[in-house]
Amino acid sequence: MRVIVTGGAGFIGSAVIRLLINETEHEVLNLDCLTYASDQAALSSVCEHPRYRFSHTDIRKPDALRRVFRDYRPHLVMHLAAESHVDRSIDAPADFIETNVVGTVNLLETARSYWSSLDGAEKRAFRFHHVSTDEVYGSLGAEGYFTEETAYAPNSPYSASKAASDHMVRAWHATYGIPVVTSNCSNNFGPHQFPEKLIPLTIINAIEGKSLPVYGNGMNIRDWLFVEDHARALMTIALRGRVGETYNVGGDAERTNIEVVRSICSLLDEILPHSSFRPHENLIRFVADRPGHDMRYAIDTSKIRRELGWQPVESFESGLRKTVEWYIDNRAIWTRLLLDRYQGERLGLMGAR
Ligand code: NAD
Repeated sequence: MRVIVTGGAGFIGSAVIRLLINETEHEVLNLDCLTYASDQAALSSVCEHPRYRFSHTDIRKPDALRRVFRDYRPHLVMHLAAESHVDRSIDAPADFIETNVVGTVNLLETARSYWSSLDGAEKRAFRFHHVSTDEVYGSLGAEGYFTEETAYAPNSPYSASKAASDHMVRAWHATYGIPVVTSNCSNNFGPHQFPEKLIPLTIINAIEGKSLPVYGNGMNIRDWLFVEDHARALMTIALRGRVGETYNVGGDAERTNIEVVRSICSLLDEILPHSSFRPHENLIRFVADRPGHDMRYAIDTSKIRRELGWQPVESFESGLRKTVEWYIDNRAIWTRLLLDRYQGERLGLMGAR
């Protein structure tokens, strides 16, 4: 099978591609325009593989998309390309509309015309998998979980743009019949995440003895999933999910932001016993809350567990240990990313996505 992965040079897309190349026989085309958030080092283990190809393509450019589909003739599209950082969406929402909404419509239109040109078994087998976030559901109180039936109530420009793209995907299925499947996942963490998100930012700042910013009182709750578990869920949904359905994905690992930051600090105290910054908790600083900051996200994952037999392998603790160790061992990768690509006057003030 030929698979197009959009956003394959990003944090989650690269984990999906590593999995597809290492554990399946499928061919993969990574379609990515290489924004600041991309990191091709995340693909160094697979980029020479004969089943891997890269296309430097922007989903905002419909003509370029049509050429890629015409030449590659995919059986499956896994759509991950997006602007993904909430804080950036607050500062510059237009980019999020252009890529997440208009780009997704461009991709849907390209897929529609390509799919319409197919016949028989090829047409029936085609799938468009749209990868989205639990943030489209808005904010929970102390009780309850997001299910696939929860009404959408996005609160940030990022989540609103993802919600809009989810609606487009749904509409293209209902109106034109394209075989789509959508997934909505909670916060991911793991190796190769761009160092503006809460976990990598906290690890890197703590290693360097810089302050560890925490929004508000740190009591906002997120559900966390190790990125390789999400990649496996995505592969399962793309290959076996029911057409027209939505699947929620999560780690059943709710933590307050301050718990996450304290866990990282104690791991670093343990792994770096000679660090002069121990105890790393002393670096924590509470900063003004993010506007529109959702209080709690929590996911009911019973549908994907029941229908597709997926469940995470890593606990929050085991995944966090792997992540902290990766950032300690790969200083060269994140230093280069920060130096080369981050126009980061706001470094030090980024929080959970
Ligand atoms: P990321 O920011 O790390 O990577 C995004 C990738 O998309 C980058 O490689 C970037 O170059 C590419 N891209 C951006 N704009 C593009 C464009 N116009 N054309 C082509 N490529 C473009 O994001 P991520 O964290 O890997 O997230 C991937 C997807 O998963 C996104 O759709 C995001 O909304 C969703 N998601 C993320 C999380 C999370 O915790 N990170 C959780 C749930 C869902």
